[in-house]
Amino acid sequence: MAATDEQPTVKLVVHCRRCHGWLLAAASVSAGIGPRCAIAERAEQRAAAARPLTLFDVAA
Ligand SMILES: [Zn+2]
Repeated sequence: MAATDEQPTVKLVVHCRRCHGWLLAAASVSAGIGPRCAIAERAEQRAAAARPLTLFDVAA
């Protein structure tokens, strides 16, 4: 992880909507989410779609 980058040149930067980290890759900026978070988000959406019932729904 690049934690100590020097001041970058001025350009469009966006925060990841999931972890709020800086998005520097053009593809990530346009997507509004980092690649790792995009994978995690997609997995969560798929899990949510596959399992509409949660433990709370079952308990209720
Ligand atoms: Zn992220």
